[in-house]
This record gives sequence, C-alpha cells and structure tokens, in this order.
Amino acid sequence: MQNKRLVEKDAPMRKDDLIVITGAGGFIGGNLAQYFAKKGFTRIRAVDRKPLYDWYLRVPGTETMCLDVSEEANCRRVCEGAAEVYNLAADMGGMGFIERFRVECLRSILINTHMVEAAYRAGVRRYFFSSSACAYNIELQQDPAVRALKESDAYPAMPERGYGWEKLVSEIFCQEYWAERGLKTFIARFHNVYGPHGTWDGGREKAPAAICRKVIDAIDRKDLRIKIWGDGTQTRSFMYIDDCVKGIDRITHTDDLIATPINLGSTELVSINDLVSKVEKIAGVKLQREYQLDAPRGVAGRNSDNTFIKQVLGWEPDTSLSKGLASTYKWIGQQYGARKQGRRVVE
Ligand code: NAD
Repeated sequence: MQNKRLVEKDAPMRKDDLIVITGAGGFIGGNLAQYFAKKGFTRIRAVDRKPLYDWYLRVPGTETMCLDVSEEANCRRVCEGAAEVYNLAADMGGMGFIERFRVECLRSILINTHMVEAAYRAGVRRYFFSSSACAYNIELQQDPAVRALKESDAYPAMPERGYGWEKLVSEIFCQEYWAERGLKTFIARFHNVYGPHGTWDGGREKAPAAICRKVIDAIDRKDLRIKIWGDGTQTRSFMYIDDCVKGIDRITHTDDLIATPINLGSTELVSINDLVSKVEKIAGVKLQREYQLDAPRGVAGRNSDNTFIKQVLGWEPDTSLSKGLASTYKWIGQQYGARKQGRRVVE
C-alpha cells in the first residue's frame, strides 16, 4: 500500500487491559461494550452522561460511569489507566434532530477536544473517534442517483451544517494529535447505523427505526397508513450494528489506518420508499403512504464507496438490509409491546 508509515509497535492488547468507551449508554457504544465483553476483555469502562436506567444496554461485568465528557476534568478521570479509548459520545440523532439542533451538535466538539487530550496525557495506546458521512461535501449529495462517496470527497469542505462541521473539525484534532504528538488515532466515517438497542422513538431516531415503529404502530392501531418524510425518493445506505462494531475493532487495530479517515458503511443503496417496502414485507402488510414534503429529509442521496476499506482490511460491512431489518423490527416490536403493557422501556 502507498504511504505506509513506519509505526512503533505497541504491545498487543491483553484481555485485562482497560478499554474505555464513551457514549456507552447509547446505541453504538453499548453494542461495542457488549462486543468487547464477548471477545473476553475483562476490564471495560463504560461512560455516558445519561443515568444508568436510561442506557440501552448494560453489559454485566463492566465498570460504569455516569459523567459528562464535555468537561475536561471528567475526561481525565475517564481516561485514567486506559490502554484504548473509543469515543462514541455525541449529542446527535436522525435528520429531525441534526437539522433542528445545530448548536447542540456543534457543542459535541468539546467532547472530542477534551477526550483526545485526556487520552494523550493518560498515555493511551489507541484512540478511536466516530465520525460520520455527514462530514462529506453536501454538494456531492444533491441527486438520489448519487455517486458513492470516497474518503477524499470531504474536501473542499462543505459538510452538513452543525453536526458535519463538528465531525470534520474533530477529525482534524485526531489527525494532529498523531502528527504532532504521536497518539495513534483512528477515524471511521459511519454511514447510517441501525439495529436493535438503539433509539426508536422520541425524535432522535433514524429512518430504519422510525419506519419499523410506524409500521408496528399502524398495525397496532389498525390504521393502515404511514407518514413518510420527504417524497420517499431520497437514497441512503444503512449499516447493521454488528458490522459497525466489527469494523471499529478492525480499523482501530490496523496501523496503516492511523489518523486516516475511512468509510464504514454499507454499499446497499435504497430509497426511503424501498426501505418502507422492505419493512412492510417483514410485517406482512401494505400501507397507504402519505408524504410529508415539509419534513426534514437531509441530502438527496448518499452512499459509501468501499474501495479503500476493502483494499486495507479485505473486508466491508456485508449484512443485507433485509436480514438486519428483520431483527431490528423484531426488537422494536418487543419494545413497543412492553411499553403498551406499561413496562418501562428505553427510547
Ligand atoms: P446515541 O445517541 O445512541 O449515543 C450517543 C451517546 O452519547 C448517548 O447515550 C448520549 O447520552 C451520550 N452523550 C452525549 N453527550 C455526552 C456527554 N457530553 N458526555 C457523556 N455522554 C454523552 O448515538 P449512536 O448512534 O450510538 O452514535 C454514536 C457515535 O456515532 C456518535 O458520535 C455519532 O455521531 C456517530 N455516528 C452515528 C451514526 C448512526 O447512524 N447511528 C452515523 C454516523 C455517526
């Protein structure tokens, strides 16, 4: 591979080395803690500002900390003794959230700024940052029949207002901590992650979870209509959570990827209309579609170009959308049923 760097070898991770995960009360962080626990790691510190009862997943045997990591002193405490840090904390949500709350999204810059510094000071060996496809130039995403985005398409910079700028600037922090200070940083640009144990209601949920919930709700209320944001022609690719956590692990342990942003996403491009059809098929219904043309819809089209990840890792996310949606639909159905029976669920 070109530009291969000579990197000082660090000791391989021992099963009792400390792994820190921020945002672990959320969707991807929670699933990542579970993934590392299943791999046999015995010291995982899971951190989130949410109270414990609001966490999607609580992984037995992990140390939990309820702390706000936009505060510097908390970041120092969180990183103490860590061998690896995975920073997944961010104030974020689906299009409805990131188009409306740009200031909240931008303020997540404090999280990475303090976390990467604290990780560096604590002598952490590897630091992972969760970036996003929203960091890409929006001018390349104006057409539903979009050309897939490759890593170099982030520049010249014109990312999503608010959220996308925060991701891009945080990426630069990570790159400079490597260039100037030698902290091994790793940056993945996630493309729409979905699956069980994520937000499915309340305004921060993303399209796959929202559509599953709407279909379940329509069936439950015996009102076979569904409201769709936009005209349904906007296209996206969606990555299943199991591929996401596997990809995070592989990227963070590949020295050729130090300080090098890389796409982590599926290449299975679908329109929102296709997504609804897939969920309808799983549920065994056909709903009448009502398009809300004034609702947030985001860019017209976005897909992941996986040339680079295939070249470096010899792997790419490959769970089919139909398979991933089936388990997501089942989990949301269980949550919906539990809530209806008055049992407390996290949303
Ligand atoms: P999530 O909202 O489920 O989880 C994020 C967690 O971070 C939440 O539990 C939240 O309470 C926590 N958090 C926010 N601010 C905090 C703070 N100051 N201190 C401590 N905890 C804080 O989101 P997710 O889907 O799990 O996303 C994880 C990461 O991946 C985020 O950085 C997000 O921007 C990125 N990402 C996600 C997607 C996706 O499709 N889910 C796509 C691109 C990028």
